[in-house]
This record gives sequence, C-alpha cells and structure tokens, in this order.
Amino acid sequence: MKKTVLLFSIALLLAFSFRVHSQGIPNLGQTDQWMKGALAAMERNDYQTANQIFRNLIDSGLPLPNEMPYYFALTLYELGQYDNSSNFLNKYFDLNGFNGENYDLAKNLQEDLKAPIAEIKACQLCDNKGYRWETCPTCSGSKQIQQDCSYCRGVGVVGCSRCAGKGLITKRNIFNIVEYFECDRCSGKGRLDCPTCNGSLKEVSDCKTCRGLGYLSGEIICDHKEHDHSSEK
Ligand SMILES: [Zn+2]
Ligand SMILES: [Zn+2]
Ligand SMILES: [Zn+2]
Ligand SMILES: [Zn+2]
Repeated sequence: MKKTVLLFSIALLLAFSFRVHSQGIPNLGQTDQWMKGALAAMERNDYQTANQIFRNLIDSGLPLPNEMPYYFALTLYELGQYDNSSNFLNKYFDLNGFNGENYDLAKNLQEDLKAPIAEIKACQLCDNKGYRWETCPTCSGSKQIQQDCSYCRGVGVVGCSRCAGKGLITKRNIFNIVEYFECDRCSGKGRLDCPTCNGSLKEVSDCKTCRGLGYLSGEIICDHKEHDHSSEK
C-alpha cells in the first residue's frame, strides 16, 4: 500500500516537472523555428507550406509573435482566402496599432484586399467568405426532404384530444345522470391518424442539412464566374 502511494507521488512529481519544462524556454525556440520556416516558405512563394506552419503555430496555443498576423494575412491573401486575410490583418492592427514593423506593408495589403472583398460581396455564387456554393448533397438542391413525421414521431397515430384517448365522452342528461357516448371524433378508438402525416409516418419538410436553402458553402474558392455545365458533354 505504502509502495503504491510512493510510486504515485513520484509519477505526480515527474508530471509536474515536465509541465514546468514545457512552459519554459524550449517552446519559445519552437515559435522562432516556425516563424523562420514560414517566412522562408513565403520567400520562395510556397504559401501552402507557410499556411500550414502558421496554423501549427496557432494550434499550439503558444503566444503569437506580434508580426505574425501580418505575415499570415499576406499568406492568406496569396491563397485567395480574402475574408480570413482581412480578419488577421485587423488582428495585426489591433495588436500593434501604428507601431508594427510591417505597418506600411499592412496598410498596402488592406488596400489590396478591398477589390477582392467587394467582388465576394457582389457575387451570388459564393458565401460571404468567398467559397463557392455547392448543391446540398442531402436534398440534391430540392430544399425539402421526406423525413420521419415529427408530430407523431413516426408512429402514425396520436391520442384523440376530445375523449383524452378513452374513446368515450361523458355527458350529464337533464336528470343529472352521467351518460356515456362513443367519441364521434375518433369513432370510439381513442386514437386518430396523425394530422400531420395522415398515418403515412412521413412528412415532407425543409432539409435539415441545408436548412431549406438547397445549397451549402463548399470548399472551393469562387472565381465569381458562371460555369456553363451544359457545354460539358
Ligand atoms: Zn438540403
Ligand atoms: Zn376520441
Ligand atoms: Zn405523423
Ligand atoms: Zn463568387
């Protein structure tokens, strides 16, 4: 018993010292390494690699270097992710104000972003981030879909509300005596065909995947041009 307690506290101690180490200097080195790698990739116009490295840096949860949002915004601009680029550029200005090392370049990028962002806003073929709309795979663009009836949950019948499901209703006659009658609404069955699906168990309703729109944001960056599919044979 004592042995286990001792082993356990050693394990705790080890875990604790690891934590202390992992929050110390070695990780600052990691950030520097990532930044160097990303900037080198940008230099050789390999923005995909730069993007991947910046994302690793963000995912690591380590503090971001002040100039990083500018370089990331430039990378996203080059990859055509204009909305995302604009967000990181704003982050850069928030973080550094007028004092960023890349302030002038960041201002230029802000100008360069205006036209493509205006194009996205004006285009009906893509969402507000510039991703091309795609036909919803669930409803194939028909906006509606046959689903289990939501009212009866696919049972097909509901309890009769007039007789509270008993099939009988009571009335007092003129002699104040209780008389029983068969419920005329459900013909004494106590149950009715579901009023939503009429017993078919199915209901046609808005497609839940696309919320009745018929299309979804895709993963392809939009070129804001109609593609003529009729000529493809
Ligand atoms: Zn749909
Ligand atoms: Zn009834
Ligand atoms: Zn139903
Ligand atoms: Zn578009």
